[in-house]
Order: sequence, then C-alpha cells, then structure tokens
Amino acid sequence: MKTRILFNELVTRDGFQNEPMFVPTDTKVALIDGLSRCGYAKIEVTSFTSPKAIPMLYDAQEVMARIERVPGVEYTALVPNVRGAERALECHCDEINVVMSVSETHNQANLRMPRDKSFAALTDVIRLAGEHPSRTPVNVSLSTAFGCPMEGDIPEGEVLYWAERFAALGVRGLTVCDTTGMANPTQVARMAEILQRRLPRLQLTMHFHDTRGMGLANVLVAVQQGIVRFDGSLGGLGGCPYAPGASGNICSEDTIHMLMCMGHETGIDLDALLVLARGLPVVVSHVVPGHLIKAGRVDTRAGKGDSGPGPVRFCAGQAGVFNESAVAEVAAGFHGSPGPSSHLKEFS
Ligand SMILES: [Zn+2]
Repeated sequence: MKTRILFNELVTRDGFQNEPMFVPTDTKVALIDGLSRCGYAKIEVTSFTSPKAIPMLYDAQEVMARIERVPGVEYTALVPNVRGAERALECHCDEINVVMSVSETHNQANLRMPRDKSFAALTDVIRLAGEHPSRTPVNVSLSTAFGCPMEGDIPEGEVLYWAERFAALGVRGLTVCDTTGMANPTQVARMAEILQRRLPRLQLTMHFHDTRGMGLANVLVAVQQGIVRFDGSLGGLGGCPYAPGASGNICSEDTIHMLMCMGHETGIDLDALLVLARGLPVVVSHVVPGHLIKAGRVDTRAGKGDSGPGPVRFCAGQAGVFNESAVAEVAAGFHGSPGPSSHLKEFS
C-alpha cells in the first residue's frame, strides 16, 4: 500500500546541538532554506533554550528571522520553558515542541529536574501558546519512550500515562522518541498500536536513533502500523551523551530513499536533498553516518544510477542554495573555534 509520509527534518536542532564546533548562522540559514525547497512537511529549525545550555543554538532568533518561510512547510522549534516559548512566539514559529523524558532518571540527567516539575513547566508553555493570539499548536516529545540507558525498560503504560496527561492539556501532537536507540521493531509495532488506539486524535510522530542499527527497521514496522510522521536528521547527525561515538538520529536521506524505493510518497526531492547531504561533512568538519551519500541512490535503469559520492563536494545544485563561499567560510572557521561545552542539553 502506498502511504503519504510526512517528514520532519531535525539536522539544525537535534543534529547541530551535539556538534562541538559552532556552525555559523549564515550556514544554518542557507541549509534550512535548502531543506525548505526539498519538500519537507516540517523542519525543526532550532531550540529556544538558554545560550549557556546549548551555545550552538544561541542564534535561534536570528535564524528564525532570516529563513525563508516556504508555504506548506511548518517551521517548529524546541522550547524548554515559558521564556523560550515567549521567544519562539515572537519569532512566529508555526509550532512549539516541548520535551521531557518518560524516565525519571533521564529527565534528571537531561533537564535537571524531576518529571513532575517538567510537566508543570510545560503546562505553562502549553497554556501560553494556546492563549497567544497566534494559537500556536504544541507538540510534546517524550524522550526515552522505548528504553532508558539508566533505568532500562520503560513500560508502555508509563508512556501512555504521560501522553494522556499532555493530550488532556490540548497538545496537537506527540512524538515518541527512542533517544538512545534502544527500540526494536516488535516494541515499535506495539507502541504504535497502543498510542493510535488510545489517542486517535493526536498527530503521532516517531523519532528514532540508529544507535544500534535498528532505525530503519523501526521505521518500516511503524509505517506498516499506520504511522506517517517521522523525524530524521540529514546525514544521520545527532547523538547522545550517554553513548559516545554512536550513530545519531536516523538519516533523513537514507530513510526517505528507502520509503521511496518501496513506493511510498514523501513529497521530497531526493536529488536536491542529496546535494545538501553531501555538503554536510564540510559544514561539521567530519564524516557523517549516512549511507546514501556514500553509495548513491538506487536506480534500476541500467547505467542510470547515481554516480555516487566522489570526493565530498559542496555545490549549489538545483536547490540553488547553501552556497560555496558560505561553506568555505565555515570550513576555515573549523580550525579555531570549538564552542564551550555543556552537559545540559535537551536531548530528544
Ligand atoms: Zn533524538
């Protein structure tokens, strides 16, 4: 069966927040403008968190102000508290994404507060967004929904409990996050079934990490269960402080390619996306986990396959963005500007 998949790109938030080197604002804006033209349903642009917590994203307001808002694309941002929500609303974000962990221990480690305190703070955010003249919708991301690196198994009932509490506050969407890549396909199928049955009115998104190589299998089984919304990160950037060196979010272009090969509709111009993906190693100054930029896309017509990677190059391509001079500037900056590190990050 052919399904219309709605993809949410996270590279400039979940991807970049983990990078040690600051990505210049110009480059972020160029990348987001390029992604906008690729046909995404949603782009998580940035995080309105304290610059001290995530120095990489201190330029959230400037980025939001400068990106081109392509009709049909929703521009969302992560918001940790009321102050962040005020900033996001000033910037006319199309959606506010809030995050907390299902695991008490992980919430303490990630957000430095117990879950009840997080819930109270996010309740204020949801109220503020609802009362704002823009009536900006809120999505809640539940981290460690498929397992916690400290607590181990997370019972599905626990995920459902928090999901229902947020649903009662009027959130539009729920993202269940496999923050450290612990989910397996059987578990994903069960979670998808339970959440759709119990909370049929919520926009349900699945957020997988490929930490242990189960990412695409989890996407596949989720699609089979009727899930149509997925988060992903260009090049597979992103990661987790509790699993150093591990792969990050599922790779957007790999996932989209798989779904397209299967005949699903993604609305995404994969060739334009690959141009951006191939520039990413230059932007972050290291190789990225994605497969497709190395192997090229599958084309069953003889001799028509993607010519594959070649040297990592940065080119404007059809998307006409992400220009080479910006990249050269970034590449030059890599040799001297590690951003200050921080242990407090909003991992989803
Ligand atoms: Zn994540």
